[in-house]
Order: sequence, then C-alpha cells, then structure tokens
Amino acid sequence: MKTALITGITGQDGSYLAELLLEKGYRVFGLVRRSSTVTFERIDHIQDRLELVSGDLSDQNSLFYALEASQPDEVYNLAAQSFVQTSWTQPVLTGDVTGLGVTRMLEAIRIFDRERRIRFYQASSSEMFGKVQAVPQDEDTSFYPRSPYGVAKVYGHWATVNYRESYGMYAVSGILFNHESPRRGLEFVTRKVTDGAARISLGLSRELRLGNLDAQRDWGFAGDYVRAMHLMLQQDEPDDYVVATGETHTVQKLVELAFSAVGLDWREHVKLDERFMRPAEVDLLVGDPGKAKRKLGWEPEVNFESLVTMMVEADLERLRGNRRSAVSSAV
Ligand code: NDP
Ligand code: GDP
Repeated sequence: MKTALITGITGQDGSYLAELLLEKGYRVFGLVRRSSTVTFERIDHIQDRLELVSGDLSDQNSLFYALEASQPDEVYNLAAQSFVQTSWTQPVLTGDVTGLGVTRMLEAIRIFDRERRIRFYQASSSEMFGKVQAVPQDEDTSFYPRSPYGVAKVYGHWATVNYRESYGMYAVSGILFNHESPRRGLEFVTRKVTDGAARISLGLSRELRLGNLDAQRDWGFAGDYVRAMHLMLQQDEPDDYVVATGETHTVQKLVELAFSAVGLDWREHVKLDERFMRPAEVDLLVGDPGKAKRKLGWEPEVNFESLVTMMVEADLERLRGNRRSAVSSAV
C-alpha cells in the first residue's frame, strides 16, 4: 500500500485527488491548517478514511512534522493562495505561501528523505504564461506572469526543477490550465457564473456583476486533471507536463451557456463592474496537452459544455436544498 501526503487537501483539487488515491488503495494523509471554523466541506464525505495532520506552508517545522507523521511515498503540494485577484491585495502573503512555501516543502523533503524515495508533485499554473509568448502554450513556451500569483508560481516551478537537477529528487511540475467543478471556490469566474445563474433562476437574486467578459481560458474538469497529477508521479523519469483541453472560450461564452442552461437571457441580468477588472489581465490561455497525451496516456473526458451544465445543475440542487432546509427550520 502506498502512502500520499496532500497539502491543500481541503481545496477543490485536494478533495478530488484524495478520492482518486483512496480508490487506488492509498493511505492518504492531508495537511490542514488551523482555523477557528471548520473548512472541511469538500472532504466531509471521505474524512473518516483520511488522516489529517496540522501544518501550514508558512511554517517550516510543521512540514517536517507532517512528513514524519505520514512517512509518504508521494507528496502532492496543492496548497496555495490560489486566487489571482487576491494576489494584488496580498502580494507578500501570496509570495510567501504560493512561492516560498514550495521551497519549504522541498527543503523538508530533501533533509527528511536522504534516500530520495519520496516523489514530489508541484501544482504549477498556466497563469505563468500570462502575456502569452506563443499560441498554444506548451512545456517550451516562455513564462511572462501578469500577477503576483503568476510570479509566485514561476518561482515554485523553477524551485521544483532546480531541486530535481541539484539533488536528484523525483520532483515534477504540472502546468495545469484552469480546471473547475461544482467544488470550485465561489470567487472564481466559472463558479460565480453558475451559482449566479442558478440563484437568478430560483428568484434568489436579480443580477450578476462581472469584470472582463473578453478574457479567454482553457477550462477543463478538475476530476480529469487530478488523474494527470497521479500519472506524473508514476513515470520512470520525473518530467514537467502541460495539462489542458486544447480548447479556449471567452468568459462571455461561459455566461451564455450557464444562463441558457436555466432558460434565461444573460443580457438581462449581467452587469459589468469595474471592481472585478484586474490591474493586468491574462487575455488568452490555450494549452497544448500533446506531451501529456503521448507520454502519460492522459486525456480529458469532460468537455466545456458538459462542465458548465454539470456546475449549473449542482448549484441548482444545492440552492433548492438550502431553500427546503430554511423552510423546514422555519416551521
Ligand atoms: P483551492 O483554493 O481550492 O485550495 C487551496 C488549498 O490550499 C486549500 O486547501 C487551502 O486551505 C490550502 N492553503 C492555503 N494556504 C495555505 C497555507 N498557508 N498552508 C497550508 N495550506 C494552505 O485551490 P485548487 O484546489 O483549485 O488548486 C490546487 C492547486 O493548484 C493550487 O496550488 C492552485 O494554485 C493550483 N492551480 C489551480 C488551478 C485551477 O484551475 N484550479 C490551475 C492551476 C494551478 P484552506 O481550506 O484552509 O483555505
Ligand atoms: P484565473 O484564470 O485563475 O484568474 O481564474 P478566474 O476564474 O479568477 O478568472 C478567469 C477570467 O475571468 C479572468 O480573465 C478574469 O478577469 C475574468 N473575470 C471576469 N469577471 C470576473 C469575476 O467577476 N470574477 C473573477 N474571478 N474573474 C472574472
């Protein structure tokens, strides 16, 4: 039985990856940070099968304790301050957790695991391509990050490559394009739109305020993308991979699909709001997943239209359930 340690297990990807590894028979440990309220919604359904250790990417010692407690074969570093917009208001924290946090984990592994037994996955991002230098973007495309988040991810990526080359560690960087699901945080545009369309259709709100509708993203399904993370740690040699669908769509197209899934005309409900515009924008992302397909045998299974429908339906169901429980607690 293999053992994995997942940082960021309470996040979108952490929850899907934990499910996948449990299915494969892994013993799964998760690093969780202390909070005054419980943030385990995404792993509630599997929590009794997980072993949680407390720690924080900004605290070096806690990472040693986590390695000692879990004795992992594989470490998946998914924890991060992951929201681009917040990285402009908290640039130093983003640099510390999303960037330097990677080196803290790599250092902990380097010192703890002298036999180089542990395999390490770093959650890198298409945001590193930023102002894109080629279309589509692949493993050889130069980086040009456009936010403190993107800058921190570039640091984490190169730290991973550097520890592989300096110390012979099995360390890989997965350059993942945007991936979404019903478990995506409500602040990200896909979930904000599917939740907004569902709310409006149920009469719970009237409008949805958004920023730049022209930005284009290569959106995939998180459940597909965690399969690629796992595959990257099962190869003979460590290497870096782009994980994407190869298709791109505008935010406006996303809005059209979500509103039409609930039978509404988006033009009657969507308002543009300066507050959601960014100081520097990433206009176009579209990845070339050719290497992941050839070498890992990985392919996405859920397309953009099915993803949006899946998310709208999940939001409708959740909001209807909330309404029912509000009514029953009132009677
Ligand atoms: P989420 O924002 O859903 O999850 C982030 C996780 O990191 C949460 O579990 C959070 O814990 C944890 N975390 C945040 N700060 C710390 C800290 N200081 N110490 C320990 N844990 C911390 O992100 P996703 O699941 O969507 O993404 C996973 C990773 O993949 C991230 O690194 C993200 O940047 C990267 N990525 C994501 C993409 C996407 O489209 N989803 C695309 C490319 C890369 P808590 O619950 O306590 O807040
Ligand atoms: P990102 O690619 O990691 O920044 O993921 P997001 O989901 O946060 O944003 C994707 C794109 O949607 C970006 O180009 C944003 O500028 C654009 N966008 C437009 N309106 C909004 C909004 O209201 N919220 C968010 N989060 N993004 C928006």
